[in-house]
Amino acid sequence: MSDSVYRIIPESKNGDFDGRVDKAISYLKRKTKPEDITFTDHEGITFIDCGENLTSISCPSCNSALSFDWWGEAMDTAFKNGFSDLSCTLPCCNQKGSLDALKYDFPCAFAKKEIAIINPKKPLSDKVIAKVESILEGKIKIIISMY
Ligand SMILES: [Zn+2]
Repeated sequence: MSDSVYRIIPESKNGDFDGRVDKAISYLKRKTKPEDITFTDHEGITFIDCGENLTSISCPSCNSALSFDWWGEAMDTAFKNGFSDLSCTLPCCNQKGSLDALKYDFPCAFAKKEIAIINPKKPLSDKVIAKVESILEGKIKIIISMY
């Protein structure tokens, strides 16, 4: 059995949860009935991946498929500066781009903080998401990972 994990992160890579994380977690436990929920302070910008759900990455400028080899090297370079600079030059069309603006399918993102909902039994409805945003006092993104 694979695990599905709903990773809730602040909208911006440098963002924080301004509201109460404990309150958001107990609300999410009630609403999604998950196996577990964890909070992680990554203490730095971290790539929030979608696990096995990542099947392709493409260029936001010209839509060409990007190779995982190119992407891996660009990620290694960015990792060396702690992901503070995500800029890259796209190999397909020579445009300037950013590693957090590539078209990841499924979506991936960068974040410092994360609430992970492991194997929820109920889906995250728009209503639940809106309530979590109000508890956390800011916009969130949800990355759906499969492991
Ligand atoms: Zn391109």
